[in-house]
Amino acid sequence: MKKKQLEMMLERLEGFRRPSFQMEQYATPASVAAEMLFLAAMRGELGTVCDLGCGTGVLAIGAALLGARSIGVEIDSEALAIARRNAKRLSADVDFIRADVRSLLLTGIDTVVMNPPFGAQKASLGDRAFLSCAQKIAKTVYSLHNQGSEGFVRSFMKPCTVQEIYRIPFPLKRCFDFHGQDVKVIGVELYRITC
Ligand code: SAH
Repeated sequence: MKKKQLEMMLERLEGFRRPSFQMEQYATPASVAAEMLFLAAMRGELGTVCDLGCGTGVLAIGAALLGARSIGVEIDSEALAIARRNAKRLSADVDFIRADVRSLLLTGIDTVVMNPPFGAQKASLGDRAFLSCAQKIAKTVYSLHNQGSEGFVRSFMKPCTVQEIYRIPFPLKRCFDFHGQDVKVIGVELYRITC
């Protein structure tokens, strides 16, 4: 499958119904998800994949479509119901688990792919719990963060190592009332970390 094909398939997925502002529920745009998953595929890192905070499932489903054994973990049951429907729609084989990343016990994971809450909201858990969990369960981690997170990610993830940082345009769709424009492009950083 070509990257553009994957992007077009993922574009058809249903998004969050009522995104929770507190939980920073932003779906990863299809273009970003496809980019991220192809980087992992090119390195042969899509064996057993876990998407932490999978939301409506875009990364977990995309990984399955590229041949991974894929697991999606999410705390919000409403988002999980959408993720399950999305997987069915694309005939993607994904195991979805309702769990909190703070108490997740999983073994045999090669790669974590995730778009964790950035921690912009006080009530949100932020990315720390996600990074800690990823570090415990996977050999390789692909994780999206705000621009300027390098110092934090490098020191927080020690003794794991940040191998690459890709700067990716992230088209943010208008999903909360206070957002002015319909689509705003922000820059995000994709980290590839090995443990
Ligand atoms: N990965 C999805 C959604 C990203 S938004 C995508 O790329 O589109 C972050 C997700 O993390 C939300 O769906 C939110 O509900 C979930 N989340 C927040 N705290 C969590 C926790 N403690 N454990 C598991 N999931 C959590």
